[in-house]
Amino acid sequence: MRINRAMRVGIGAAAVALAATLTACGGGDEGTALDHAEEGKLTVGIKFDQPGLGLRNTDGTYSGLDVEVAKYVGDKLGVKPEDITFKESPSAQRETLIENGQVDFIVATYSITDSRKEKVDFAGPYYVAGQDLLVRADNTDITGPDSLAGKKVCSVSGSTPAQNIQKNYPQAQLQTYDTYSLCIEALRSGAIDAVTTDNVILAGYAAQSPGTFKLVNETFTTENYGIGVKKGDQETRDQINDALEAMFADGAWQAALEKSFAGTGFAVPEPPAVDRY
Ligand code: GLU
Repeated sequence: MRINRAMRVGIGAAAVALAATLTACGGGDEGTALDHAEEGKLTVGIKFDQPGLGLRNTDGTYSGLDVEVAKYVGDKLGVKPEDITFKESPSAQRETLIENGQVDFIVATYSITDSRKEKVDFAGPYYVAGQDLLVRADNTDITGPDSLAGKKVCSVSGSTPAQNIQKNYPQAQLQTYDTYSLCIEALRSGAIDAVTTDNVILAGYAAQSPGTFKLVNETFTTENYGIGVKKGDQETRDQINDALEAMFADGAWQAALEKSFAGTGFAVPEPPAVDRY
């Protein structure tokens, strides 16, 4: 068959379209989390400095409840643990990391809130925590959020506990850092009087330094930990919710909690009900 000019133009246009598609795919941030899982790999946002939740160990391995949840969900989506790339996701950067496609989803002590839901969607919850206070072991005058007037209190930018102190306990002298481990060092050195965030995070730090810190143990908020996904990606959210329900049902969730919270004194509760909003 003789190829005429019209056909040549057609072939050329198809080639340009194909090239454009290939470029888009090569960008790394195109495609949904499920597309990436189908290709056999996932990028999951976690914390790197929160013992019991999301921790990068000195040998390069990762541990904690969020890591266990990420691996279980990954497995249900057909991705082996070694094919998950963990990306550090500090509190203030989580929505942006999801919106920009730099992570497929985030499992990072990430509370489900209405204002965050304007930018991202959440599967879960998979754990319910509550805001609490951590002080030095010899402290006796900080007994709850109402005793924070004039006290230097550390939390993390972009976190719900920092917002809560700012809004509801304005007499406290709030200092915000990028990570909770920086707050812990400031508490240890005496630069600040208390660290505030979720009880389970604080308990993880207390367990790492026995006898140094004390959890006030009076939670004053409810923090529903969700898995952050791209806004509108209903299919990914549904499949993650299915995976969480399977994890609750087959005992893997209970085992992950027992292992991750060992030494904190935290008991394994009943699993929460996932919210298919
Ligand atoms: N769960 C709270 C939040 O999502 C505090 C813990 C954190 O900053 O990761 O803001």
